[in-house]
Amino acid sequence: MTQYVYAFEEGQATMRALLGGKGANLAEMTRLGLPVPSGFTITTDACMEYLAANNTLTQDMLSQIETYLEDLQLRTGKSFSTGDELLLVSVRSGAAQSMPGMMDTILNLGLNDVNVERFKQMTGDGRFAYDCYRRLLQMFGNVVYDISGSYFERHLTTYKAALKVTNDQELTEADLKKIISTYKEIYQKVAKKEFPQDPQQQLLEAIEAVFSSWNNERAFVYRNLNDMSHEGGTAVNVQEMVFGNRGDTSGTGVAFTRNPATGENKLFGEYLLNAQGEDVVAGIRTPLPIATLEEAMPTVYDEFVRVADLLEDHYQDMQDIEFTIENSKLYLLQTRNGKRTAKAAFQIAVDLVNEGKLSKAEALMQIDPKSIDQLLHPSFASAALAYAELVTDVGLPASPGAATGQVYFDAAAAQEAVQRGEEVILLRQETSPEDITGMSISEAIVTSRGGMTSHAAVVARGMGVCCVVGCEQLSIDEANKCASYPNGQLKEGDLISVDGTNGAIYRGDIDKVPTEAEETFQTMMAWARELSDLKIRMNAETVNDIKTGLAFDAAGIGLVRTEHMFFKEERLREMRRFIISNRQTEQDRALGEILGYQIEDFVNIFSLTKDKPVVIRLLDPPLHEFLPHTEQDVATLALQLDVAQESLARRVSELTEVNPMLGHRGVRLAVSYPNLYLMQAEAIIRAAATVNETGVNVQPEIMIPLVGMKKELSLLREAITQHIDDLLDELNVQVDYTIGTMIELPRACLIADELVDDADFFSFGTNDLTQMTFGFSRDDAAKYINQYISDEILPLDPFQTLDVEGVGSLVKTATELARAKQPDFKLGVCGELGGDPQSIEFFHQIGLDYVSCSPYRIPIAQIAAAQSAIKYATMKEKLEV
Ligand code: PEP
Ligand code: MG
Repeated sequence: MTQYVYAFEEGQATMRALLGGKGANLAEMTRLGLPVPSGFTITTDACMEYLAANNTLTQDMLSQIETYLEDLQLRTGKSFSTGDELLLVSVRSGAAQSMPGMMDTILNLGLNDVNVERFKQMTGDGRFAYDCYRRLLQMFGNVVYDISGSYFERHLTTYKAALKVTNDQELTEADLKKIISTYKEIYQKVAKKEFPQDPQQQLLEAIEAVFSSWNNERAFVYRNLNDMSHEGGTAVNVQEMVFGNRGDTSGTGVAFTRNPATGENKLFGEYLLNAQGEDVVAGIRTPLPIATLEEAMPTVYDEFVRVADLLEDHYQDMQDIEFTIENSKLYLLQTRNGKRTAKAAFQIAVDLVNEGKLSKAEALMQIDPKSIDQLLHPSFASAALAYAELVTDVGLPASPGAATGQVYFDAAAAQEAVQRGEEVILLRQETSPEDITGMSISEAIVTSRGGMTSHAAVVARGMGVCCVVGCEQLSIDEANKCASYPNGQLKEGDLISVDGTNGAIYRGDIDKVPTEAEETFQTMMAWARELSDLKIRMNAETVNDIKTGLAFDAAGIGLVRTEHMFFKEERLREMRRFIISNRQTEQDRALGEILGYQIEDFVNIFSLTKDKPVVIRLLDPPLHEFLPHTEQDVATLALQLDVAQESLARRVSELTEVNPMLGHRGVRLAVSYPNLYLMQAEAIIRAAATVNETGVNVQPEIMIPLVGMKKELSLLREAITQHIDDLLDELNVQVDYTIGTMIELPRACLIADELVDDADFFSFGTNDLTQMTFGFSRDDAAKYINQYISDEILPLDPFQTLDVEGVGSLVKTATELARAKQPDFKLGVCGELGGDPQSIEFFHQIGLDYVSCSPYRIPIAQIAAAQSAIKYATMKEKLEV
């Protein structure tokens, strides 16, 4: 018989897939002898079977739940129905991968109209007993009967306002009884249901609701945003309640063993006295820093520090711990590897290696390559800040970055604005899981309430979105779409700038500067390079981009797109002269001018890259891209080139193609105009010879694009080689050049063994290869690809992550064909996928030599390459270091 339920004593950390992260860690902490309230976990398998059976708990599940419930009652000496001690439990979800705020929690389950009185007698505190009951009604109504939390909150707020009290603690037992009775009316009115009085029924309905919540919309959106599978299901944890709301010697909190924003090795967290768990996470009351617990309850604090150290050592990673203190006794409710900013991730990983707790390889595996983007976020220019108008600087810096956008007060309005092309900042009192889509598309999120562990803070950090929380000086009126602060007002659409690194908010747009890489970042990158066998190059042609790439230690340039060098006016004019003219002398004159410009371009590049290899791709785009498109432009160009307007217009129309991406481009241009490529090859060699005079040995790798046939390549290679050899003779110098081709047509992949004969290297152009394999226009496909993904026709956008099945298989075929003929044949990738971690793993596995990506993606690619080498142990001898 399948085991659907496990007592905490029966599980362990490795059973995460079955017990969910929370359940597996509760079990592990129980095994470690830590103070964890008793309980059991219903498995993720049970969840998937429940969902598959049209939301029904099977007989097997029901009887196992009953057995484990009886066992829990025996172990705790408490009971749902009889006996002196009343058993109350929490019911909490917990998937294999943590999904903060996505799934649901119910506390105080087991209370009803009758036993609440018994609970009052047991605890000697009527206010406390009825407050627990009030909370149960609220959570149960929300999670199980789908009654919006705002119905309950609104009534509570109105009730408190009428009494002129602000704190829940000021409500008396009599007040709470009245609130409970109104809550029951809300059940009737909104859900047309009664609150179930039978604790057993409460439990079963709660379990079903948590299982069903796996498929609720916000969970679905969260998994899509984080590339998580929809298959896993959630476990349910049923655990004996401990109460943080039993007065001032009780409390509840969340703490990280290190600072999740900076990585500093110091306990970091918050707690609230006399409160239950959801009070901290929901951000309704602003919690106290954990350090103040040392004074408030020194013994509990010492115990917490001991446990935190032990858990961090045990898991060898920074922990995020939820705890409750009941009558001065500490209980642990959860531990997990803490979410952190990229900056903190680097700091923590390097510190753990220096503390001897992790090897370099283990530390590298802790980094999420995609989070590195966050680290490279810009910050505000200090000169610009000096003149900026401050809105407030009291907010908590929850997720770093510097962002500017227009203010919106609800997630739906923010989404609409983004669709109109605006950049937005979401301003809310606090966020809730319903806001998740709006949060993900915002440049920044600002909340007036909540601490560093509030929903907004946790989710924004996870998404890498800039975020400031707890901005108490902002009084936000969501209904009227405005906010006031001590010196002014903000209304919908106003432009503000948010500093997620120090918590300040300014009016207007502020200049930004790129981040300086920190020492820990450099250290990790050096380790990543040391442990990688795949090299990382950059796609770059401007001086700025090349300098950025070199600052990230790129192994060279994997793609110089020479057409990008033709957009300056005088170059464009000469290029146009070349295309338009039918006379050889005119063409030669134009090419002569362009040659001069190109030599200058390549000298600039080689002077920066020195001995590093540089792939220069000869002209690729369709010729008509260089032509004037409006009548006015044709008239102006006719004047400039001194040709008749009609003949120019005719030439333009001759060159215009219906399908330019499948048109007269790449090597096809050179078949028609070989001089174009010869001119470029000459410029490369002359520039290399010039820079070589400074004592370096430039490594130009000349690349011919869009080859699909053996003869195309052999003809061009021969012509270029001849031209270069003549030139080298003439100059009487030596240049170490090679000639290779891009592989970006399916046909080229299939005849790779033939192309090898005429190439020194291949570089896969995965942008065109994806376009040509799917027949998706790379410029238009975005319009329908999202629907393909949501309808599960495609798992991911193949222009962003390699389609292993189709495009990947072509790349692999070409690799095998090439290497079968020449085992050391040099292979790289220079399409966008060269910067995507998942794709990089594939390219590494099939044995490519390098990937090339835009300069800011180099660190991401470098970490991904190291992780792949570690995962597949291709650098075995270095891994133990
Ligand atoms: C490619 O096709 O992948 C490539 C790198 O070339 P481009 O994007 O310039 O067409
Ligand atoms: Mg291409």
